[in-house]
Amino acid sequence: MKDLKSYIRNIPDFPKDGIMFRDVTTLFSNPAAFRHAVDSLVAAFKNDRVQKVAGIEARGFVLAGAIAHRLGAGVVPIRKAGRLPHQTIEETYQLEYGDATLEMHLDAFGAGDRILLIDDLIATGGTAEAALSLIERQSGDVVGCGFIVDLPALGGSARVRTHCERVVSLCSFDSD
Ligand code: AMP
Repeated sequence: MKDLKSYIRNIPDFPKDGIMFRDVTTLFSNPAAFRHAVDSLVAAFKNDRVQKVAGIEARGFVLAGAIAHRLGAGVVPIRKAGRLPHQTIEETYQLEYGDATLEMHLDAFGAGDRILLIDDLIATGGTAEAALSLIERQSGDVVGCGFIVDLPALGGSARVRTHCERVVSLCSFDSD
């Protein structure tokens, strides 16, 4: 198995100038790399008695479903505003320009349930932090956060560690 990073496609200036987009769809489409990524995140949390895997729209859903299946857990979708059909709670957070809102169903899990948060990538940590706030507001017990990619220069993983001790990423890129 080659380094997982080599399966990630780098797209300069997407979605805007100056951003190097780390495109994990090339990793998802490679059977061995996708299996390796899922297996690695499953291994990291297999002893945590995870009850629900919360995935962040949209690339987080791909991982959350596969990981939950392997852990014998359920899946909780954390979605962009206006897409969940039932009663939701929402959390608005800052982006570089403007803001964004994430929503979760009010009854997505029970108080005290053991939750694993999953997304493809952590950059500034704003998205993950908003998702963690939603889970904490519903009294979920966050056992950890898992990502394929960390961009440590942007400080997100350090920020998220203030909410949850176990933050696992499978690879990192030094500049953004
Ligand atoms: P952040 O809130 O800054 O941690 O951004 C994380 C979210 O934005 C994740 O859902 C990522 O999929 C996406 N994202 C942010 N920066 C990048 C990047 N350079 N390449 C790919 N996805 C990114």
